[in-house]
Amino acid sequence: MTTSQAAFLKQLLEHGILIDMGVDGLYGRSGVFEDVVERFSILVAGFGRDDKAEVIRFPPGMSRGQFESSGYMKSFPQLAGTVHSFSGNDHQHADLIANIEAGKDWTDGQKATDVVLTPAACYPLYPVIAKRGILPQQGGLFDLHSYCFRHEPSIDPARMQMFRMREYVRIGTPEQVLDFRQSWLERGEQLMRSLGVPVVLDVANDPFFGRAGKLLSNNQRDQKLKFELLIPITSEENPTACLSFNYHQDHFGTKWGLCTCADTVAHTACVGFGMERVALALFKHHGLDVTTWPRPVRKLLWGD
Ligand code: ATP
Ligand code: ZN
Repeated sequence: MTTSQAAFLKQLLEHGILIDMGVDGLYGRSGVFEDVVERFSILVAGFGRDDKAEVIRFPPGMSRGQFESSGYMKSFPQLAGTVHSFSGNDHQHADLIANIEAGKDWTDGQKATDVVLTPAACYPLYPVIAKRGILPQQGGLFDLHSYCFRHEPSIDPARMQMFRMREYVRIGTPEQVLDFRQSWLERGEQLMRSLGVPVVLDVANDPFFGRAGKLLSNNQRDQKLKFELLIPITSEENPTACLSFNYHQDHFGTKWGLCTCADTVAHTACVGFGMERVALALFKHHGLDVTTWPRPVRKLLWGD
């Protein structure tokens, strides 16, 4: 925790832009905050319009079976959120109520349901596309937007437990997906610069768990598989990743049997926009009152 993180969070709460819900990283959003997120989403859609991506919206939960197959628990067990529910009898119900009333742990009898909270907007997509069969020769391009969950409670307003990720996902040959990623690296930077915020592009890695994870992180960096567009939100020295550009090679293609012709495994890449982080970056750089934001920024977002 840094004092600047706590200070910015306090400001956001005092101005009613975020609303305290009693848990670090879980907030209500004001109408103004939501308006910024929506306007930004429309702006992104404008940048991507000519690509004619297929729009798909998933709920913020995915199949536990598919989540298990995705391998998420191997890489990021610390971040996952699983949905559990009561499925006991009258007697167990009475115990549960008694435990709650006594302030004791009541969650012992909770059983895992078939639903897991979506960790990244693209996770539910791959099995759905695999089920369709062989992809057309030109591959596929998808437009996703979902609330995601990651168990990383923090006082940093830019590190939430529930937040939205807007993603474009490309499935195809290595050339197709790398072209896609390159085009969004350029567009993403141009898009954020046009909104008047300072940006830095850098190589990054995912927070792979444990000792084996260190190797995976190093490998990801060495091969430049992940880039992030960083914008200072609560610190100049440690700017926040607001957009991510990921090349998964054939990782998901192999896992899910994605292919563009019978015996060639498809490669995949995704670009992810952290919607809350982008909104927070705009509030940080242009002020908490959106009516006083610079004219060019207002024009881009609200058309005025
Ligand atoms: P970080 O390195 O900061 O943990 P990440 O690189 O793991 O983020 P990705 O997995 O690439 O993030 O997720 C895509 C986008 O979702 C990120 O670029 C970021 O903008 C956003 N994001 C990720 N985690 C959070 C979070 N806890 N709160 C808000 N936005 C997030
Ligand atoms: Zn993704």
